[in-house]
Amino acid sequence: MRIDLHTHSNVSDGTESPAVLMASAAAAGLDVVALTDHDTTAGWAEAAAAVPGTGVALVRGTEVSALVGGVSVHLLSYLHDPEHPELAGMIARTRDARQHRGRAIVELLAEDYPISWADVAAVQQPGTVVGRPHIADALVALGIVPDRTAAFDTLLSARAGYYVPYYAPDAVDVVRAIRAAGGVPVFAHPGADGRGRVVADRVIEELVDGGLFALEVRHRDHDDAQRARLTALADRLGVAVTGSSDYHGAGKPNRLGENLTAPDVLGRIESEGRTPVVRA
Ligand code: AMP
Ligand code: FE
Ligand code: FE
Ligand code: ZN
Repeated sequence: MRIDLHTHSNVSDGTESPAVLMASAAAAGLDVVALTDHDTTAGWAEAAAAVPGTGVALVRGTEVSALVGGVSVHLLSYLHDPEHPELAGMIARTRDARQHRGRAIVELLAEDYPISWADVAAVQQPGTVVGRPHIADALVALGIVPDRTAAFDTLLSARAGYYVPYYAPDAVDVVRAIRAAGGVPVFAHPGADGRGRVVADRVIEELVDGGLFALEVRHRDHDDAQRARLTALADRLGVAVTGSSDYHGAGKPNRLGENLTAPDVLGRIESEGRTPVVRA
């Protein structure tokens, strides 16, 4: 069984539509894929409709933005009720904050480069959850940088002076809201220190007390030292571990299936989650 529990479509910052993503999952030989767009469930219906045609089972999820003392973290929620008011309200506020923050970044960039918000709007579909990758795409379209990776290495890095943070709810509140909505919460790439500061073990303990199910240990942003640290921590705290690609289509080098989750861990997610896995 090849199970990949973390991917993005173009309803957030991936480059493929949900239906094309499902076809890519089939081509990559996956049996099960989770669609986990940032702060939205807008891609669920299209992905579910592609299950019969592709034969790939779908875990419906969301990658929920959160903050821990100013550090930006991501919590994967699997199989939650998308209409639960508390969780749906949280991610709606975050989407709004992302919009304002995207405009603020573009205003800073516009002081030095010929870019406007219309350039960002032109590279995304209406209703997309805005992130720095879309600003990167606009910078590429304008010929200011060659690709997304170059944009993140230069103008969009937190060190470049154009960075603006965005409001997101506290991580413990997010874990509790995910459980209240019948979801199964997993800490995405908790040791991705290449992206900035990471949280201390003590914070992960608080999230486990709040109901965290697992740590996403096998992820390309974790080196061997982080994997060893997080595996030992998960053992000590009695939580599961997952592995995933964090696929973004052509937007990042991550390939579908490059990290996988064990079938028994998926079985536990399925039994704890409120929304069924969609099977062909
Ligand atoms: P934001 O959520 O707006 O702060 O932007 C962060 C997002 O950008 C993450 O979800 C990543 O998927 C994406 N990202 C980070 N680094 C890169 C990169 N080098 N190339 C493409 N996408 C990236
Ligand atoms: Fe992303
Ligand atoms: Fe993430
Ligand atoms: Zn992700």
